[in-house]
Amino acid sequence: MHTPDAQGYIPFIHNYCDRRCERCRFVRQCRVGAVDVDDVGEAEDAAADETPEDLRKRLMKLMGLSEEDMAALDAAKEERANEPVDPVEQAREEAEMAEWKREQEALDRKVDAHPLSVMGSTYLDLVRAWIEAREASLKARGVQLHHRMGVDIPAELHTPEMLVLSEAVQELLWFHTIIPAKVGRALHGRMGRAFDDDPLQSDWNGSAKVCLDAVDRSVAAWDTIVELLPEEADDALPMQELLHRIRKGLENEFPDAQRFIRPGFDAHLGG
Ligand code: SF4
Repeated sequence: MHTPDAQGYIPFIHNYCDRRCERCRFVRQCRVGAVDVDDVGEAEDAAADETPEDLRKRLMKLMGLSEEDMAALDAAKEERANEPVDPVEQAREEAEMAEWKREQEALDRKVDAHPLSVMGSTYLDLVRAWIEAREASLKARGVQLHHRMGVDIPAELHTPEMLVLSEAVQELLWFHTIIPAKVGRALHGRMGRAFDDDPLQSDWNGSAKVCLDAVDRSVAAWDTIVELLPEEADDALPMQELLHRIRKGLENEFPDAQRFIRPGFDAHLGG
């Protein structure tokens, strides 16, 4: 599973990573990373100016499709569009789609009500409120909140302590959205038995493993923040406590998560 495909990309590696492409060692062996890296350095508003032709090229690169593949897909699409519609078949497809939608909505409600989802979204809200209240003061002290920001921070504020604090805050901000997203995906996968049925090498175990890593790195980030900004200790406590509870919940719900082998990243574990 760690072997690159014919185009040099490791299949599915982007599903079980931290999405920090700018620092990923697999960036050139990952379809998503390769596109992301090639986009960096282009004009800030490149996406806004993207023409349909640019978008098509980007999708081709992302999916590893050639011009011939695209021509075949276009031809198949046109053929389908020109096929006469069978009203009985169409009604059957619509009924199936409506049933699938009902099942998905019921699953969404179950996932949203799960204690892990509630803790994940509460954690996101708390971190968001925490950073909103401190964004200006942290910036004024020289904290770089995002790796692509901070060019306006005066050189004298670039102390080793501020660099460490910046890194911790960036980790925290990055993972506070990843945690609820991965919790949701893991629960959806397991409750809906999506993608595959392998009890160990399943998408839900992979998502839970990524989430456990995000939780551990967030715990470490909070430890650093509290060490460097002891006045934040009291306000940080509920979020630190929540992370410990999320970790426990993940271990209970996904006891095999750590045995999942992530393509590329866990090459040392075999698979
Ligand atoms: S595997 Fe690396 S390059 Fe690919 S999406 Fe994940 S972080 Fe980005």
